[in-house]
Amino acid sequence: MFKKIGLLVGAILIALVGVVAFNTFTNTPSTASVDPIKLPPIDADAAAARLSEAVRIETISIGRDDPPAAAEFDRLHLLISSSFPLVQETLQRDVVGDHSLLYTWKGSDPSLPPVLLMGHMDVVPIEPGTEQDWEEGPFSGTIKNGAIWGRGTLDDKLSVFAILEAAEYLLAENFTPKRTIYFAFGHDEEIGGENGAGKIAALLKERGVKLSFTLDEGMVIVDGLMPGVDEPIAFIALAEKGYLTLQLAAMAEGGHSSIPPRTTAIGKIARAVARLEDNRFPAALISPAANMFDTLAPHMSMPLKAIISNRWLFDPILLGELGKGGATNAMVRTTTAVTIAEGGTKDNVLPTIAMATINFRMLPGTTIQDVVDHVTAVVDDPDIEITVKQGNDPSKVSDQNGEGYRLIETTIRETLPDVLVSPGLMLAGSDSKHYEAIAENSYRFIPMRFGPEDLARVHGTNERIMIDNYAEIIQFYRRLMQNVAG
Ligand SMILES: [Zn+2]
Repeated sequence: MFKKIGLLVGAILIALVGVVAFNTFTNTPSTASVDPIKLPPIDADAAAARLSEAVRIETISIGRDDPPAAAEFDRLHLLISSSFPLVQETLQRDVVGDHSLLYTWKGSDPSLPPVLLMGHMDVVPIEPGTEQDWEEGPFSGTIKNGAIWGRGTLDDKLSVFAILEAAEYLLAENFTPKRTIYFAFGHDEEIGGENGAGKIAALLKERGVKLSFTLDEGMVIVDGLMPGVDEPIAFIALAEKGYLTLQLAAMAEGGHSSIPPRTTAIGKIARAVARLEDNRFPAALISPAANMFDTLAPHMSMPLKAIISNRWLFDPILLGELGKGGATNAMVRTTTAVTIAEGGTKDNVLPTIAMATINFRMLPGTTIQDVVDHVTAVVDDPDIEITVKQGNDPSKVSDQNGEGYRLIETTIRETLPDVLVSPGLMLAGSDSKHYEAIAENSYRFIPMRFGPEDLARVHGTNERIMIDNYAEIIQFYRRLMQNVAG
């Protein structure tokens, strides 16, 4: 009897190993080859000088309740008009929401659905106290050691200027697109984008525009950041996570601390926070993070390749490992971050109120209401009031087989032949969400090359872009416009 069971277990194990090995070794890259194109010459130094001038204009978005830097945006608009005379002369230009710009490059064939390329002109402030840590002034636009330094060189004046550089080159060659191409440059992306991208989208909707796709900031080319993959990877984000801030408040009687109740307002809030941290949202490997692993698995080294080629068997192990990391955890889970705690003013007074602010980033498919329901159930305390402070649901997941993805992927292979292309999930937010209603698909990618130390430059200290990389980005947009144009 035991011998029979032993034989059976042995047979199952051999079969299992066979299936795992088969799935692993037959998982090879499937993309049809695309030949790199010969890139036309561009004047990278002149382009760098123009971006450097833009960095010196302090178009800072401070907060939702602060007025926009109107005079600075006027200066930036003037710089754009004078730097790109052919764009200024040929394209229709609308100023929207006072400071945002919409350019229309009219195509000759109105039957083709238009495409919209995006960037934003505002930047985040410098965190007080970190000014001295910058190697070059944050608004100096210094060109040194092959780089352009300052706010906006990664996020996101570079894409505004790279798009315009590309268009100016094409116009100089008398290029005319068959398909209409829009350029949309918002002025308030860093504070939600309602007055910029929001109003541009409303204007396009009013004009009856239906876009094939939008391309915005979001993900980049990463090098040395993906375990098991040696090549740099261009991640095209198919979706962005949702954003939700909840406030939890506990009320109490107050009074003198010499006669305290069993639990204070602070104690109630502390218990609620502890319960939330102990009961995270479950991890799930769903689209687009799942698409990413499926696309990259053939390029991975062992044992990752075997694990990801056999997700039917190893998903629990994979999820466990991914859940341990910072960024990888955020790819597979709706995250919970307690960011503010308030309560109490004096050491011998019982507080009448204590509050905690919690920021959630939702996976595609998880709504604001889902989070509120989860929090209500986990906190399980009728004395705690839960209020939605601010939020937007996650984006929809765009099609990895859509026309736009194919055009972007082809353009990457033609202009940046050293990189792999993969779908991805954007962990932060972008202006793309404002166009969802009028765009069939939304993709988020700029071919900036990021090594392990570069992520901290975005919204951080020493933001800068290498001029060589900036030239690649201009070439990318230029080729993309040609490919998109039809
Ligand atoms: Zn940005």
